[in-house]
Amino acid sequence: MTDPAAGVAGTGPDEADWAAAVAAVRDLPADAQVQLICHVNPDGDALGSMLGFGLGLRQLGVRQLRATFPGPPEVPEPFRALPGLDLLVAEQDAYPAPDLVVCFDAASESRLGGLVDRLATAGTALVLDHHASNTMFGGINLVDPRAAATSVVAEELLARLGVRLDAGIAEGLYVALTTDTGSFRFEATTPAVHELAARLLATGIRPGDISRRVFDTRPFGAVRLFGEVMCRARLEPAAAGGNGLVWTYATLDDLARHDQRPYVLEALIDSVRCTAEADVSCVVKQVRPDEWAVSMRSKGAVDVSRVAVALGGGGHKFAAGFTGRGSADDVVASIRAELDKALIGA
Ligand code: AMP
Ligand code: MN
Ligand code: MN
Repeated sequence: MTDPAAGVAGTGPDEADWAAAVAAVRDLPADAQVQLICHVNPDGDALGSMLGFGLGLRQLGVRQLRATFPGPPEVPEPFRALPGLDLLVAEQDAYPAPDLVVCFDAASESRLGGLVDRLATAGTALVLDHHASNTMFGGINLVDPRAAATSVVAEELLARLGVRLDAGIAEGLYVALTTDTGSFRFEATTPAVHELAARLLATGIRPGDISRRVFDTRPFGAVRLFGEVMCRARLEPAAAGGNGLVWTYATLDDLARHDQRPYVLEALIDSVRCTAEADVSCVVKQVRPDEWAVSMRSKGAVDVSRVAVALGGGGHKFAAGFTGRGSADDVVASIRAELDKALIGA
């Protein structure tokens, strides 16, 4: 593989992959245990796809069904009204050796944290994802890099299983679709995406209420925190081969001073990436004294997934991320260096 950003996901699942996935669900014994897992620090696609799919399995009669993600079992406030939250259990309460494990929106095993052992203890491991950088770590991999969200893949599998979309299933899949397409603004927003949105809306879900909850509601402390963090944004016009880099950072102390939870920082990148003078934007978010969760976005001149993969993370051309170590300045220096390499290799 000469191009790490191209990953090994190719052009998406073939009919044999779909047939294997359908059989893995259809052939489950009546008393089967099914464990759903989404990636660490779950976003709308991870949680929405997992819970929507879970409610679909419940409709099919799967009774022993649990959903989880690695790390503290805290659901970010924007997702606390999602249907199917009753499926969620803490990481330590996941089935130790389920008949079937299904992974959502995780590009690699490392995104499953301490739950990675379930890939080995489960009877079958099914991976649903849409990252080009996916390492194809399941026994069955439904990985479509052209899909706008993991929920696109999840909905197709549900349809092939004969599940009828209802409002509960649809809300999770819709939250997933709107978060990963930036509310239908990003490049991956194909006619098929709008057709899926139409099928989901036809169940009667309320897009205005859902969007307000997911995108447009945050505590006042978060508004003030954003103000501070935006004020320290830096523009480096010469970076990324002259395409420009804009970046900022937020520390654990910033969160503590404003009494905010880390999830509020997820929306920061959207305020930074609108900078006209920069193709690449980035937010460096402290998660431990020496560890940073990095969000990167591109307008197209640079493939940020190359940078992320080179630094141990993953993602897509226009949106990618990785875990950085050291100081915030160290992390940004590593990004600058990889941006230059990505351009040379482009
Ligand atoms: P985010 O900036 O967190 O919204 O993530 C943007 C994209 O990068 C998503 O597709 C994520 O799945 C991916 N991503 C973010 N962080 C990581 C990471 N540490 N490892 C692999 N992929 C990541
Ligand atoms: Mn995700
Ligand atoms: Mn996704």
